[in-house]
Amino acid sequence: MRYAIVSDIHANLEALRAVLKDIKSQRVDKVICLGDIVGYYADPNTCTELCRNSGFICIRGNHDDAALELCDIDDFNPIAQTALLWTAKKLKQEHKDWLRKLPEFLIIDEQFLAVHGSPWDPYAYIFSSGGALQAFSCMRNNHPSITLCFFGHTHQRALYATEERAVQEIAQGTHYTLSDYGLFLINPGSVGQSRDGKPGASYIIYSSKGKEIEFRHVPYKIELTQRKVAAAKLPMMLAERLSLGY
Ligand code: ZN
Repeated sequence: MRYAIVSDIHANLEALRAVLKDIKSQRVDKVICLGDIVGYYADPNTCTELCRNSGFICIRGNHDDAALELCDIDDFNPIAQTALLWTAKKLKQEHKDWLRKLPEFLIIDEQFLAVHGSPWDPYAYIFSSGGALQAFSCMRNNHPSITLCFFGHTHQRALYATEERAVQEIAQGTHYTLSDYGLFLINPGSVGQSRDGKPGASYIIYSSKGKEIEFRHVPYKIELTQRKVAAAKLPMMLAERLSLGY
């Protein structure tokens, strides 16, 4: 089975369209979306519609929850709050109803876990080996048959692996073959707001036969997304950061 793993689209339509086109060239069987379909950028309705119509298997992220008033908006920074209030106003009721029904996490084909932030809390960030250790212990306790977990939320690509008793963070490269031993925790980066220092959209192709991971990076028309931020009167910092990828 070939999977595309996407995360943190954040209503960036140009990025989502570029990734969808790239996914088509990859002949995947399923697309898994790790949440945050909306929040930040100017196309929450079209992006939600595209995820629905393309048959993505989705979970909810913290920005989706905030746009649906399922969590407290005070937990977000002021720029995110402004974008979320704008999103909550713009998002059509039918898309809200669809988003609301999405689960918090999923086990896909009894093979891997899909979470937004972490396996123990969808809003927690995994930024370090310490966070990865906590995630691995949660996987062992709650999902003992699962050795692979995909997570998003940080908007940064990452691959953590257990190695004997240590946790190793592997980064930089694009292709990995997962061993038959140990546990793995992998972040595909973000479609809509990459924070890897490299402008563009990121996602993963996972081939379960052979356990192969490929990190993919796709350029898109960033200027168009930026013009939409200005036209919608969303905070301009959201536009600026796309040029630098932070
Ligand atoms: Zn996000």
